[in-house]
Amino acid sequence: MSTWFISDLHLSADHPAITAGFLALLQQAQSGVDALYILGDLFDYWIGDDDPAPHLTPIIQGLRELSARIPCYFMAGNRDFLVGTAFCKKTGLILLPDPTVIDLYGTKMLLVHGDSLCTDDAEYLAYRAKVRDPKTMRRFLRLPLWIRRLIASWMRAASKKRIAGKSAMQLTTNENALLTLMREHHVTALIHGHIHQAGIHRVDDHGVMREWFVLGDWSDQAGCLLKCAKTGEKVLEDWELAKQWQKLKPIEPLE
Ligand code: MN
Repeated sequence: MSTWFISDLHLSADHPAITAGFLALLQQAQSGVDALYILGDLFDYWIGDDDPAPHLTPIIQGLRELSARIPCYFMAGNRDFLVGTAFCKKTGLILLPDPTVIDLYGTKMLLVHGDSLCTDDAEYLAYRAKVRDPKTMRRFLRLPLWIRRLIASWMRAASKKRIAGKSAMQLTTNENALLTLMREHHVTALIHGHIHQAGIHRVDDHGVMREWFVLGDWSDQAGCLLKCAKTGEKVLEDWELAKQWQKLKPIEPLE
């Protein structure tokens, strides 16, 4: 038995291959998996639970089928922090605050999306505080859908521009911030996404070994999946999308 962690799929109508790969993952998680954790940026953008975009239909269906069998958790990322209770009700997702400490087979594990740990980017943190203010969020959600869609596309363009002008240090998580958060929560292990650089890190923090697992983003070719087994073993896997489809649907030979 194992628990699966994913993040940064950035699902959108523009990348049907990633959506298909995610649906395959949801189906495979139906057996042998204890729980699924989605640590943010499941969607490339989210303008409200009332968005009737057709590409969401199979995603909602897939999540509902899996969450009927195992607990499926969702923590918001910087792209989809407007996911609300209506969407969770529709899908069966359990909304988690950022950060959250879970009991992973008897060990405490801290979960965060990761953007709050990019402390070298003060401009981003100020922006984050502003857009995630509940009042701002409520005001945005009251706007007509077409205006929300427009604002979201402006914001994506603006974010692209901002990122292009930043150093590598500003775009990654700060190790001190990471260790401080782990100390505050009395944990020695953490999982985060956001920075799109999958990896496993271990640091001797004044005699205490602390480790953190970074989930990678998904592309049209592959996703990233962290499998944490009940035995304690943790593996970061490439979720090759083409292979996963074949498992689902055998390719018909050409006539
Ligand atoms: Mn993110």
